Amino acid sequence: MKNKEIAKIFDELGDMLEFLGENPFRARAYKRASQIIYGLPEDIEKLYSSGKLSEIKGIGESIIHKIGEFIETGKISAYDEYRSKIPEGLLELLSVPYIGPVTLRTLYKTLHITNFDELIKACEDKLVRNLPNFGPKKEENILKGLLRYKEQIFRYPIGLIFDDIIKLIEDIKNITGVIRAEVAGSFRRMKETIGDIDILASGKSTTEIIRNFTKLPVIKEVISEGETKCSVVLSTGMQADLRVVDDNSYGACLQYFTGSKNHNVKLRGIAKDMGFKINEYGIFKGDKLIPCPDEEIVYQTLGLPWIPPEMREDNGEIELAQKGNLPKLIDYNEIKGDVHLHSTYSDGGESIKVMAEAAIKKGYEYIVITDHSQSLKIAKGLEIERLLKQMEEIDKLNRELFPFKIFKGSEVDIKHDGTLDYPDEVLKQLDFVIASIHSGFKDDEKKMTKRILNAIENKYVTMIAHPTGRILNAREPYNVNIIEVFKMAAKTNTFLEINAYFDRLDLNDVNIRIAKEYGVKFCIGTDSHNSIQLNMMIYGIGQARRAWLTASDIINTKKLEDFQRAIKIKR
Ligand SMILES: [Zn+2]
Ligand SMILES: [Zn+2]
Repeated sequence: MKNKEIAKIFDELGDMLEFLGENPFRARAYKRASQIIYGLPEDIEKLYSSGKLSEIKGIGESIIHKIGEFIETGKISAYDEYRSKIPEGLLELLSVPYIGPVTLRTLYKTLHITNFDELIKACEDKLVRNLPNFGPKKEENILKGLLRYKEQIFRYPIGLIFDDIIKLIEDIKNITGVIRAEVAGSFRRMKETIGDIDILASGKSTTEIIRNFTKLPVIKEVISEGETKCSVVLSTGMQADLRVVDDNSYGACLQYFTGSKNHNVKLRGIAKDMGFKINEYGIFKGDKLIPCPDEEIVYQTLGLPWIPPEMREDNGEIELAQKGNLPKLIDYNEIKGDVHLHSTYSDGGESIKVMAEAAIKKGYEYIVITDHSQSLKIAKGLEIERLLKQMEEIDKLNRELFPFKIFKGSEVDIKHDGTLDYPDEVLKQLDFVIASIHSGFKDDEKKMTKRILNAIENKYVTMIAHPTGRILNAREPYNVNIIEVFKMAAKTNTFLEINAYFDRLDLNDVNIRIAKEYGVKFCIGTDSHNSIQLNMMIYGIGQARRAWLTASDIINTKKLEDFQRAIKIKR
């Protein structure tokens, strides 16, 4: 069906007319037609050929004519004509909140804005506020909208693409002539969101490797193809660049393309002071190349130990490395159990037993089952009676699966008034109580902070899950004074969760680091709703490593007995 495509054209026609200051009634007619067409349940082509389009209110003769033109020729000449009067890419700005066609026209006519970056700069230079009918508030809103839009459009949550990229690297390694292959860039640094993918491979016959790479089934489109590098679009819509280098330069190149930019700027400075020049081919002393097949050699030559990619943000890691004080980051295999799991008792897809067996397979010593509490009706939250029944089942499974241990937990709602969804008599029968916000997201900062602090102050609450509530590309954090949360959590021995669910990661590197400064201890939980999701743990560990956490900062790196002791401290 071409309905959506045609609806989009009329929507843009309306925008263009408004932007150009043409007849506003016609602009509105196009917009209205767009909405009607978007909502049509039947195929617009069929409606057109049967002559039934004219029976639909809001679709006039001139619009039917244009629809016919599109169906027959694949384009609408009026659309193309208007389009040619407007700079390329300008209309994209209309997708940003607070920017409508009239606002856009003013920005274009007065400040000659034609793209995102120019408008961001104009806002930052405080030029937008002085335009008629604008002002500082509107300028601020436009800037916020621009930054958020850019972030959302161009960045993918790492967990959404992780497995596909790992698979792609395996495929590249299987191409004849490839010696080594790896992802560099923000993916290797485990950022919570990724813009595009930088892949590096080493091998001799570079053109042949590239040709075979572009033939992989996951590649949707080849943007450019050269002798040593190429750019493609993957089936996910994401852009990926592949570079093929001589194996002797692999380390230098991997270091260079892993970044971050700021980390590398600082390294180049150090190299310069030592009389070296450093780039993607290696380190140069005058004209003499010091080959760097491995990254370690790059750092070694500059007098540094190898720095884990997750730390490379120029947050002080180079200075620590110079002093030989790099922390021993938590390892990807140091987790001993998962603390946030749902089962079929609430909205999970698998039984407690299946979840436990999957955890055993991963080498875990324990898990905590944390189904939702009674008020969360949409997630089949457990009435007290069913919670007690679940505890019985867990006792039975523990006898069966010994020495593996399933802890009795619950993800208890923090209600609107700040009270918890089960009374203390029930909470105290649980080993591990998670408290979290699942409603009233719009509360103001004072109220939201108070709700969370109330929960932390309850002596049975072991951990606060997803403490900021941010969902990548979907929901901003709650209005919460997160520093107050950090302080109270540290004071009461309440753990904060690094939620590893792929679109959450809401305690990201930045706030984990701050929380640690306040003395907070963490657990990493996957919030799994089926056993495959247990594998999301890696994204949480990635954030922990980006925040320089060591195993001792994270409670569920402890062995069973120590973990059992740690979750009782608060009581
Ligand atoms: Zn939750
Ligand atoms: Zn949950």
